[in-house]
Amino acid sequence: MKATNDLSRLCVHTQTTKPWDLNACITAYHQAGIQHISIWRHLLENQNLKEVKSELEKHHLQVTSLVRGGFFASVSKSKRQEAIEENKKAIEEAAALGAPLIVLVCGADPEQGLETSREQIKEGIQAILPYAQSANVRLAIEPLHPMYAGDKSAIVSLGQANDLAESINDPFVGIAIDVYHLWWDQDLKQEIDRCGKHNNIFAFHVCDWRTPTLDLLTDRGLMGEGCIPVKQIRQWVEAAGFQGPIEVEIFSERLWKQNQTEFLEKIKHAYIHYT
Ligand code: ZN
Repeated sequence: MKATNDLSRLCVHTQTTKPWDLNACITAYHQAGIQHISIWRHLLENQNLKEVKSELEKHHLQVTSLVRGGFFASVSKSKRQEAIEENKKAIEEAAALGAPLIVLVCGADPEQGLETSREQIKEGIQAILPYAQSANVRLAIEPLHPMYAGDKSAIVSLGQANDLAESINDPFVGIAIDVYHLWWDQDLKQEIDRCGKHNNIFAFHVCDWRTPTLDLLTDRGLMGEGCIPVKQIRQWVEAAGFQGPIEVEIFSERLWKQNQTEFLEKIKHAYIHYT
């Protein structure tokens, strides 16, 4: 199939161009012809959200998702309660920006078992669900790669995320499918189909897996630089009914050191040819 130059579904996460502040991201993405942005919450600190919203509108940028909520699991009851309050705040921010979705990194605590963390994650999502519903903001559980099971997410496969979303069974709770976290899974295609059948594919994140990976957090690659069959996974996700923005989410010390305007052009190229 011939690659098209259609960028209409390309979305970039602000963390992908980490050296830029929010205004720089908005201006540069717009200049590059990008129409979708996912905003990381730390960039909203001390910002007037009304002004941010109007800047986004002025630059014809739609917010795909606010990143990130979650972190529900903890041995400490007060920390679990704090997480719920923080997630309510995230929901308010999303509503103020017109962001339809919050990505949830669910959390894990190395001082307790994964089953306990998973129960707390479900309780946490159920606790914030009424706020999400009344603000019209959807919640996307993002299963992470198992290497993060110790302290970031007790949800480490699409099967587990499907189980959780289906057990909550609410149109406001679905899943963010990220190729970086899920590409290794022998059941990936089946679980994508299952996720689609329940209308639970809320978001799709892309990047690539470099070998050797030099850092577990910040050595992601551009699509085409690694061993993830990104095009194939995109086909599965689309065959399962997903037609939303394709979100480029790359954390890379190597790429953050480059000129970010040039990096954005590389992202467009990788999106067109390897996604
Ligand atoms: Zn992601």
